[in-house]
Amino acid sequence: MIPILGELTPGKTQRHLIKLPGAALANDEPRPVISVAGAKPGPVLFVNAGVHGGEYPAVEAVIRLGKTLDPKKISGTVILMPVLNLPAFRTRTPFVCPIDNVNPNRVFPGDPTGSYSEQMTHALMNEFVIHADAYVDLHGGDIPEALVPFVICRSGNDEVSKKSKAIAMTFGLPYVLAVSKPVQPSKGSSSYAAAAENGVPSILAEAGGVGQMQEEAVELLVNGVVNVMRHLGMIEAGAESAPAKSQIPGSKSQTNPKSKAKKAARRAVATGKASAADAAASTVLTKFEWVYTKRAGMWYPKVAPGDVVSDSEEIGTVGDLFGDTLEKIISPVNGVILFLTINPSVLENGLLMGIGVE
Ligand SMILES: [Zn+2]
Repeated sequence: MIPILGELTPGKTQRHLIKLPGAALANDEPRPVISVAGAKPGPVLFVNAGVHGGEYPAVEAVIRLGKTLDPKKISGTVILMPVLNLPAFRTRTPFVCPIDNVNPNRVFPGDPTGSYSEQMTHALMNEFVIHADAYVDLHGGDIPEALVPFVICRSGNDEVSKKSKAIAMTFGLPYVLAVSKPVQPSKGSSSYAAAAENGVPSILAEAGGVGQMQEEAVELLVNGVVNVMRHLGMIEAGAESAPAKSQIPGSKSQTNPKSKAKKAARRAVATGKASAADAAASTVLTKFEWVYTKRAGMWYPKVAPGDVVSDSEEIGTVGDLFGDTLEKIISPVNGVILFLTINPSVLENGLLMGIGVE
């Protein structure tokens, strides 16, 4: 099923420590992987986090799935890898892998003779992703980023893209971004695109950020994966409802840790009895517009994640260290702010935010 994990025992959760192949990875510490092999046969779902090292709610969501999914109630197998990019995780390095300074999510499907990140993504694809029936890559804002939760998938009318979109919609986050091309020029593509290219329906889901552990974000991601499992027929649909609408943020209102919805969500995860029916339908966006500063300096955003902005609106300024304004940042589109750089220090051509367009 997943050759590198060996034989799995139906009805059991097993812990593995995996050495990924690749000369550049030879001295790596082994990566923890958890397999939850259902008592009944069914699809293989692969879920990882930590392609980026500072996206902690995603990492925690994968850990928690390993602790809470009950293999006796599952049809099929869930394979969980909490952190792919361990060098970045260990050193709290955002965006890239510190060994080669490459963003792993720009070099999928990887290259067995390439740099560290290329070998790492190649190993992930070949040892895990291509053996799965569906693939979920969990992310969030990295250490300098805040965001409103959203899912990305490949757009298109082919079967794999349609299945990916259905998985994205069932995940249950406020926005679904279905896109056809990469947002930044890069050597390779992103995880979800490379998986789809290989015939594996796939999404990338984002929640949480700014280098912190937001409980609400963890729950959104955990529940999202449970929703995907239900969609794939791996757990039975039940009467108990998914997290209530009020639980779905607004970045400004992710602060109610003791709500009933939270308890219900926990219970739902524990029992596998949640239904996406009560979740708010996701808004579908079709274009991802990234905004950069030309000049380096101090960044003063006038918007927050989740804000709706209009074309030509001033959305922030960049100033120098005397306090003079160097640049007014103007929105190039009508859209919603999906992620925002929140650290004031920005570099020349530095990324400020991503705006989703309907
Ligand atoms: Zn990420």
